[in-house]
Amino acid sequence: MALLATPEVTATALRLIDLHKTYQGREPVHALRGVSLDLLAGSVTAVVGQSGSGKSTLLHCAAGLDTPSRGAVVVGGHDLTVLRADDLTRFRREHVGFVFQAYNLIGHLTARENIRLPLVLAGRDVDRAWEGALLEFLGVTDLVERLPGELSGGQAQRIAIARALITRPAVVFADEPTGALDSATGAAVLQVLRDSARELGQTVIVVTHDAEVAATADRVVVLADGLVVDRLESPTAEQVTARLLKKGR
Ligand code: ADP
Ligand code: MG
Repeated sequence: MALLATPEVTATALRLIDLHKTYQGREPVHALRGVSLDLLAGSVTAVVGQSGSGKSTLLHCAAGLDTPSRGAVVVGGHDLTVLRADDLTRFRREHVGFVFQAYNLIGHLTARENIRLPLVLAGRDVDRAWEGALLEFLGVTDLVERLPGELSGGQAQRIAIARALITRPAVVFADEPTGALDSATGAAVLQVLRDSARELGQTVIVVTHDAEVAATADRVVVLADGLVVDRLESPTAEQVTARLLKKGR
């Protein structure tokens, strides 16, 4: 499967078309009610919205971690929503990176072992030149022999970002990556993600409820009740806050 082989991907890396997600239960929950977004390569998009507005659901559906009830997720001309489970797993392993709020580093592995884990799982060799450049770029070269318990929150999240980028993914998904950090450290971590997106032509999607963090993105998408209710181009933190506080749609 030659995902990402077509040139059009370099312009629009990821296209979300009319995504719907309904969680079935005693009362069905309509978490996404028709979300369409085009995400450009080399750009950072922040998704903001109140708790329960559908941010995590959107991220999980876009990343192929969950299946939308309706709609398409198109990468390189391929619709992920129709892939078989094993093809989807391979796609994620080869083309997608994840950064989580809780870092999810493995405690008994050194930082370097954590960073290399996705390569080990995929049976791929370590590109030492790339690894070195990435560590340098993230400012963590001197930390790689440490265990996660010996790192500050900001350092741990940089290691987690190195782990997400070591496979050179086309798309990086981050769900509240700065949620456990203070605002200044969070903004610095986001800055690193944005620089790497520019440098590597990656598409980055960050879910956050922090206006400072969102303001470091190229574009901010505002979700409410499972719908995109606004898009802000290079907004200031004040503009994001004002939009989040605005009543109704
Ligand atoms: P956010 O990340 O913006 O807080 P979520 O995407 O987590 O929002 O949730 C959107 C809506 O879907 C909420 O009403 C939430 O309760 C519901 N929801 C999320 N996950 C599930 C699930 N696995 N089963 C049922 N309802 C869910
Ligand atoms: Mg969430």
